[in-house]
Amino acid sequence: MPVKGVTHRYPDRALWYLSHVCAVYCRFCTRKRKVSQSSQTPDGEDWKQALEYFKSRPEIREVILSGGDPLNLSDSKLDFLLSELKRIPHINQVRIHTRYPVTLPMRITPEFCAVLRRHFPVFIVTHFNHPKELTDFSREKIRMLVQDGSATVLNQSVLLKGINDSVETLVELFYGLTSAGIKPYYLHHCDEVYGSAHFRVPISKGVELMKSIRGRISGLCVPLYVVDLTGGGGKVPLPAEYLEEEKSSSYVFRNYRGDLYEIGY
Ligand code: SF4
Repeated sequence: MPVKGVTHRYPDRALWYLSHVCAVYCRFCTRKRKVSQSSQTPDGEDWKQALEYFKSRPEIREVILSGGDPLNLSDSKLDFLLSELKRIPHINQVRIHTRYPVTLPMRITPEFCAVLRRHFPVFIVTHFNHPKELTDFSREKIRMLVQDGSATVLNQSVLLKGINDSVETLVELFYGLTSAGIKPYYLHHCDEVYGSAHFRVPISKGVELMKSIRGRISGLCVPLYVVDLTGGGGKVPLPAEYLEEEKSSSYVFRNYRGDLYEIGY
């Protein structure tokens, strides 16, 4: 954290924590040690320092507004912050991470969409974990974001034992997201968080689930399965292995049905 509220881990991206308050408290949350501590929330002076930091680092091409939930901020504050960020020439895109389309959909209003429209393009990454969370009200608000806010909406989910760790549930979730106008982006392996061991699924099972899903449903509906390496190592993808063998003049692949195919170079 070079300045309060900013994490600069990857070369071209910076995370900016604008609020540590959420509409719900998720037991699996990787930041739950900070969530609800409103004293940790950056103030106007911290914003100034963060904006100076972004201006001074031309390698930062993307700023991710995160939390807690950044949609706790008023429309006028978000409007101000987005204007300041969009004024920095090397910043290519701004992303907002929010769970409010799931947990407090009424926060998505025509006034908020007008703010987004003024700063087009804005990428919203939301967080649905189960098809039951895709209520009619949430769908209506996603439609508003896409149509009135002109935002691109993506989703990250967490793989949770007993909640969504089956092919049927994940397929229903990914189809449901796509039909609501959301691109499934990441499926996170559950982080090592105190008190959440009972939610963790073995990585081998997660890889097998994704292997069964890819090929069965359209690639448009399939997110990338990733693990965040504890200790600041960053995210790494967990790809399913399809290449069975590399021969002198051909490759042998196993497809999602388990059938082998050999193709030449
Ligand atoms: S809404 Fe997001 S930041 Fe808040 S507790 Fe849940 S996962 Fe954590």
